[in-house]
Formats: sequence, structure tokens, C-alpha cells
Amino acid sequence: MNRSPWTEEILRLAGILLLAAIVGLVLDAFTLSLLAAVSLYLAWHLYQQHRLYQWVSASRSAHPPESSGLWGAIFDQFYRMQRRNKKRKSRLRTIVREFRQSTAAMPDSTVVLDANNRIVWFNSAAERLLRFRTPVDIGQHILNLVRHPEFVAYFNNGMYDEPIEVDSPVASDVRLSLQIIPYGQDQRLLIARDVTQLHRLEKIRRDFVANASHELRTPLTVITGYLDTLRQDDGAAAEEWRRPVQEMHRQAERMRRILEDLLLLSRLDAQPDPARDAPVDIAALARELCRDNRMIADGQVQVHCETDPAVGINGAASELQSAFSNLVQNAVKYTSEGGEVSIYWFRDGEDGCFEVVDTGIGIPPEHIPRLTERFYRVDTSRSRSRGGTGLGLAIVRHALQRHDATLEIESQPGRGSRFRCRFPAARLVDMAGNEQDEAATPVTRAEAR
Ligand code: ADP
Repeated sequence: MNRSPWTEEILRLAGILLLAAIVGLVLDAFTLSLLAAVSLYLAWHLYQQHRLYQWVSASRSAHPPESSGLWGAIFDQFYRMQRRNKKRKSRLRTIVREFRQSTAAMPDSTVVLDANNRIVWFNSAAERLLRFRTPVDIGQHILNLVRHPEFVAYFNNGMYDEPIEVDSPVASDVRLSLQIIPYGQDQRLLIARDVTQLHRLEKIRRDFVANASHELRTPLTVITGYLDTLRQDDGAAAEEWRRPVQEMHRQAERMRRILEDLLLLSRLDAQPDPARDAPVDIAALARELCRDNRMIADGQVQVHCETDPAVGINGAASELQSAFSNLVQNAVKYTSEGGEVSIYWFRDGEDGCFEVVDTGIGIPPEHIPRLTERFYRVDTSRSRSRGGTGLGLAIVRHALQRHDATLEIESQPGRGSRFRCRFPAARLVDMAGNEQDEAATPVTRAEAR
């Protein structure tokens, strides 16, 4: 019969007590006999406890002492538990070792931070890229070691969707991309990547576009000048050349506009932040745009504006001017005769919104997400025929990004479009207490042309 160790132990105790009672009765020393039996039983248990203690304190790999009954079962259970734990530990050790080996082999540096932003672990790439040292830097607060002001602002801001790019703290010619990745319970990873090569390529691309545009501008000005003369001088060109000269002039003008827009984009690209922030009177800017575009529309499209003069934007006037003027010019360009264009500047809760609404041709929804890409047009021939370069909305996006603003586009084909630039409260200024900055006189995209 298979009895549990507990039943066996109770039966054993009962047997010992019964035997002691019988012996006690026979020898006429009942109490003494029972006391002796209980003492022996207790001594045996103490002995077993001592063995257990010895075994647990000694080598863990040793087999448990031989025993039967309840103590045998306890030894067995302990032994099994120990083996299970050993297996689990060795599995965990393998996982940790493999994780460390793989992260150590990674070219990107990985730094594990605890809930108090202290360094728990880092790989060898962190020693190379960030000059962290083992073990002195373990336990240090991350901001004690990476003190770049941009990183400190990014770290404290808590918005970690995008990485930031900073100069390496250890080598000025190295550019690093840093990103925080939250995980677990308030833990974070800091990933640092060497993006020097990418940065250099990006700079080469930017410089190339800027230089090419700049270099092409002079010969183009000469060509346009001669074409202008030929166009205006009735006797200079033979009759059969009149149309080709007109067309050449038109195309040269188009090239000039593209070059100017490319130069403007390169300028926006080259500087990470607006050159100079100053309060910009958006209501005045809107009124000026309204006036200019009324003239351009020449009565074919009605242009009006409604603005809140009490609020302005802290930013670069020329960049805001370029962005808003592109939106208004587009609205006029893509609205047929008899249509309307409205310019609004207003507070929407905490935010400030510059909005251009038209009753024009509208945009099919599948094109909307790609409109701000360079040279993306819904209808290329229509854009060209209206003097478009395909770069206007790319300029808008860049200029807005540099002012922490976003562009919202709503449109319905055949009914019109709404382009809304949303500025966060931090960018807004109370114009009542601010004179408009004279030095920040806006430069229009039309003027740039
Ligand atoms: P473009 O110089 O061709 O106007 P943009 O970058 O300014 O280039 O605009 C990209 C495209 O977005 C345009 O070609 C046009 O198809 C579309 N678009 C922009 N604004 C409007 C608008 N207000 N109404 C309709 N379509 C527009």
C-alpha cells in the first residue's frame, strides 16, 4: 500500500508511544518509559535536522543524505527543487550571456538605465562611442555623463519617438544619433549610433543642390536677359522666331523659379533652427498677403482675410512669410474664376492657427499624404501651366517644422481645400505688449523670384 510520508510518520510515532506504554506498564515505570521514548524520537528528529542543515550548507551538487519516511521525502523534495532551480539559473545565465554577447557585438552602443536613470549596464560600443568606463560609470546618472544640452532637453522632455543628432562628446568630427527606448517598469535603453557618414552624405547632397542652383543662376540670368531683349525688340527677331523666343523665355522663367525654390529649401535645410526668433505680427502679414494676392488674382478670385491681431508668433519672419505666401498663392492658383480664397489667423484653444481655405479644384484623398514631398504634384501639367515648381509645400513643411508647427490638409475634389498651420502655445506671443520687429521684414517667395 502506498501511504503518504505524513501518515507513515504518525503511525511510527503512535507505534513508538504504544511500545513505550507497554514497556512502561511491564516495568511499572509508565511515565519514565514514555518520556524516554519521546526523548529518543526528538533526538532522532534533531539528528535529521542536523543532516539537512549540513547538506544544505555543503556543496549543492552533492546527493541528499539517505533517509526514510518523512525526512526521506523532505530530502527528496529539497533535492528536486534544487535541481529545478539550477536548471532555471543555467538557462537564464545562457540567455543573459547570449544577450550580452549579441549586444557587445553590435556596432551601436546600448546603455541600460534603471528607474532612477542610473546606468546598470552598457556594451563595448558605448565604451568606444561615449567613452563610458567599466566599472566606474556603472551606477552613474546618465546626465552626469552625457551632458549635451540638446540631449538633456530631449531626455527631460520625455518624447522619444524620434532620435536626436548631436556632436559626439568625445570627438568633434563624429556625429551621433541618440534615442531613448522605454521598456519594462520605468526602465530605459539609450541607443547611440555613429551617423557621421550619413551626416556627411546628407551635407554633400545639400551642398550640391545649393551650389548647383547657385551656379546655374548666373548663366540663366544672362539667357533670360537676352531673351527679354529679343522679346521686347520687335525688329530684332524674325517673325518665325517670335513664338520660340516667347516659349524659351517662359521656360527660362520656370527654371529660375525652380532654382530660387531649391535655394530657399537648401537654406531651410542647412540650419537646424530658425536663424533668429522675434515676434512676428501675423495679422499684418496676412493682410499683406491678402493685398498682394488680390492683385495677382486680378478680380478672377475673391481674396479676403480675418485675423486676430492680439496674437503673433515667435519665429523667423521671412520663413513664416514664405510658408504662408506659398499656401495663399496655391489657393489662388488652384481656384477657378469666380471662386473664393479666405485667409484666417485665430486661436484654437491653446494653439494658434493660420488657415487658407479655397473653393478651388480640391485634391483627391490618396494624394494628400504625399503633397509636401519635393516635386510631388497632383496634376503636373496643370501645376506647370500655372507657374508651379512642385516645391512650394515642401518649403511650407520645412518652415513649419522649424517653428514646431504642423500642417493639416483637408480637401474635397471639386469643392475646395483647407490648409491649416497649427502652432503650439509656446510659439505664440501677445502682440499687445510687442512692437513688430523692424529688422525682421518678411521676404516673400515672389520677391525671392
Ligand atoms: P506647385 O508649385 O506645383 O503648386 P506645391 O508643392 O505648392 O507645388 O503643391 C504641390 C501640389 O499640391 C500641387 O501641384 C497641386 O497639385 C496640389 N495643391 C497644392 N495646393 C493646392 C490647393 N490649394 N488646391 C488644390 N491643389 C493644391
